[in-house]
Amino acid sequence: MGMMAVEKGLIGEKDLTKSLNISEFSEGKTLKDVMMEMGLLSKFQAEKLERILERQSNPESARLPIKPTKLKLGELAVERGMLSQAQVDEAIAEQKEFAGSGLSIPIGQILMSKGQLTTTDVGQLIERQGRRRLECHACKAAFNITGYDEDNFYRCMRCNDDLLPCEIESIDRAKLEKKLATIRAAKQPKPVAAVKTPAKPTPGAGPAKGAPAAKAAPGKPGPKKKDPFSDGEVDDDSDDDLGDLMILEL
Ligand SMILES: [Zn+2]
Repeated sequence: MGMMAVEKGLIGEKDLTKSLNISEFSEGKTLKDVMMEMGLLSKFQAEKLERILERQSNPESARLPIKPTKLKLGELAVERGMLSQAQVDEAIAEQKEFAGSGLSIPIGQILMSKGQLTTTDVGQLIERQGRRRLECHACKAAFNITGYDEDNFYRCMRCNDDLLPCEIESIDRAKLEKKLATIRAAKQPKPVAAVKTPAKPTPGAGPAKGAPAAKAAPGKPGPKKKDPFSDGEVDDDSDDDLGDLMILEL
């Protein structure tokens, strides 16, 4: 276990030597206990190492490496008989409507909001694509990992704590419907009565020349922070009312 902890980059070789020495002289304490007491390994890390070792020592139960599918989420769902092609097409059409107004809504979110896929379904589908949603144990930052490997240890880019697999959250359908309604309404040609006539400058109203300046448009949300190591996405800056979205492309 000590060697694997070094191999996985969890501890240094010096730490291993030190904890081996200590465990040798402390009766009834395993190396795992010592490493945890020394703060070298978290409970999560120690237990995960045990699971990996167990799997390796038992070749019959060793999982076959499954190559992630290149299929898109919708295609995969159709292939598995979870959805009809018509349902997927409908969701894609909706996704395009959102995209037209600059909103990137993952297809999985649309399908979940309609109740056509459960969070478990989407979890399984993205897992098949080699993706996984992980959450920081400490600061709760969420990351979407591509090329997820069960035997790897993932660390939080913010606080370096362990990242653990977490549940996918679904967006409330009502919120999506509201957005869609806004988008569709904006596409309608404006009735003539709604066209604003420029406000007349009020005489004596300060030193303003000409028409009063239009109210500044609200600032656009900043670009998503890319996590350069895990290819994940930090969902800490989404300030629209759709909340944290996982990025699933179709
Ligand atoms: Zn963190």
